[in-house]
Amino acid sequence: MPRSYVSEARRRVGPKKQRIGPIIERLVAAHPDATIALRFENDLQLLVAVMLSAQTTDVNVNRVTERLFEKYRTPEDYLAVPVEELENDIRATGFFRQKTKALRGTMAMLIEEFDGQVPARMEDLLRLPGVARKTANVVVAERGAAEGIVVDTHVRRLSQRLGLTRQEDPVKIERDLIKLVPRRYWNVFPHLLIWHGRRVCIARRPQCEVCVLNDLCPASRVEVVRLPSHTRA
Ligand code: SF4
Repeated sequence: MPRSYVSEARRRVGPKKQRIGPIIERLVAAHPDATIALRFENDLQLLVAVMLSAQTTDVNVNRVTERLFEKYRTPEDYLAVPVEELENDIRATGFFRQKTKALRGTMAMLIEEFDGQVPARMEDLLRLPGVARKTANVVVAERGAAEGIVVDTHVRRLSQRLGLTRQEDPVKIERDLIKLVPRRYWNVFPHLLIWHGRRVCIARRPQCEVCVLNDLCPASRVEVVRLPSHTRA
């Protein structure tokens, strides 16, 4: 897209600080069901599901964990079977060797250092083998006290299209979003973008004509007729 067109589009929609409020409000109204798609019933299952979700879909993880969580109920259970058995049990999520290694390392540390419990603090979660910032962010956010904003592929694409960041690197994108999004929305904001990304702002064919954000989005492909401010709702 030519640079002049991009700046014109940015001017048309206005500064991101003024747009973020309406963007969140409209996404909340459009996706009231926006929550994590992974299934889990306790903190350990949440941690395992998020670790398994790297490089695969949530649907795929749910299919695998349905049986996995029947068989493995405590951190000790993951260490009680031969490595190959755990590898087989999670094989369908892909990268099963690395994931098995990370799971076993994490379970050993949970037992040794955290009394078999999943720690609540971000800094402790980040010490667990194979747990990177994105995983830790999801776990902390789902437990109700987000310390950051999860940036996955949808969050990255939509933040860029909506002109909320110019960054490419997820850590820098998160930094931009943290400055912009009010803290009370840190938990839900990624889910809103993820669901909007799946249903409307699809990677290769964004449905701009039916998008509730099309007058707030510099990447919109529809000509939005802008009414004078006094006639807008
Ligand atoms: S207007 Fe188009 S590009 Fe912008 S968020 Fe909506 S679907 Fe995505």
